[in-house]
Amino acid sequence: MNRLKILAVLLLATLTVNAQQKKYVMVIHGGAGTILKKNMTAEKEAAYIAALTKALQEGYKQIQAGKSSLDAVEATIHVMEDSPLFNAGKGAVFTHDGRNELDAAIMNGKTLQAGAIAGVTTIKNPISAARAVMEKSEHVMMVGDGADKFAKEVGLEIVDPKYFWTPERWNGLQKALKEDSAKAVLDHGNKKSMLLGTKNHDYKFGTVGCVALDKAGNLSAGTSTGGMTNKKYGRVGDAPIIGAGTYCNNETAGISCTGWGEYYIRNVVAKTISDLMEYKGLSVAEAAKIVQDKVAKMGGDGGLIALDRKGNVTMPFNTEGMYRGCITADGKVEVYIYK
Ligand code: ASP
Repeated sequence: MNRLKILAVLLLATLTVNAQQKKYVMVIHGGAGTILKKNMTAEKEAAYIAALTKALQEGYKQIQAGKSSLDAVEATIHVMEDSPLFNAGKGAVFTHDGRNELDAAIMNGKTLQAGAIAGVTTIKNPISAARAVMEKSEHVMMVGDGADKFAKEVGLEIVDPKYFWTPERWNGLQKALKEDSAKAVLDHGNKKSMLLGTKNHDYKFGTVGCVALDKAGNLSAGTSTGGMTNKKYGRVGDAPIIGAGTYCNNETAGISCTGWGEYYIRNVVAKTISDLMEYKGLSVAEAAKIVQDKVAKMGGDGGLIALDRKGNVTMPFNTEGMYRGCITADGKVEVYIYK
């Protein structure tokens, strides 16, 4: 082979590799769980694909307009919070006593500033309240009535708690309660923890999360949820806990988790992924896989999304499905549901 031919082959090989290394600017999830194609109608599947696509496009618009990754995360999560399809905002699941208690967190990867709210009942878009805690208070986390009050004071949209009532989620609670009492009878009245005893973790999926990378090279991550169906009053999951369900650092990655929150808290999942990257030099995909596998090994289920500042995305999960998607720097949308 003459030199010219070798050069041409090398050039082609490099171009192919580069073409494969897509740069992503956003990744989202809409919850993980027993999502099986056989249980899905064509209409429902289309509705999820449309909602995920719209969410990605709204965030992408912000990035294209030169706005910050925080703006992109907030805009994207608003779309999902306003849709009854997801367990966040409008479509939040019910607690054991029939209320909707919402959690959310957001983190700025450039400054490591973070904001979170938990157990709120009147804030239409909890992700904006989390952002307000980060930007308009000296705190990181506010809970319950105080957080609701703060959101009102800073001018966020407040709704009657009835706004969060949807038939799907109400029926989900009734089903969980029925299973719960059946289980209690089987256990001869030895009623275990509301969540662990019923293994009702399939009633929870639909939490939403987003990680975005803006034109200035800054990452942000956010998560918003109604938690788990039939959760005990006052229970808080991983989503609003910085380092557990949500974390972001420009030096490593932005991460948002979904699944059985107790396991994600106990494994400090999001921060551990960041630490493996920072201290061990692992790639985002390697780090995320190790920690997600650990959750699975302990008996937890769920998944996560992560995006590093070079635009590498990973979306591991150990459930049958996870609503998820990402968008490339040049605006190509990818949306997935099943394994
Ligand atoms: N992780 C959430 C929680 O435990 C629920 C979910 O992601 O589905 O509150």
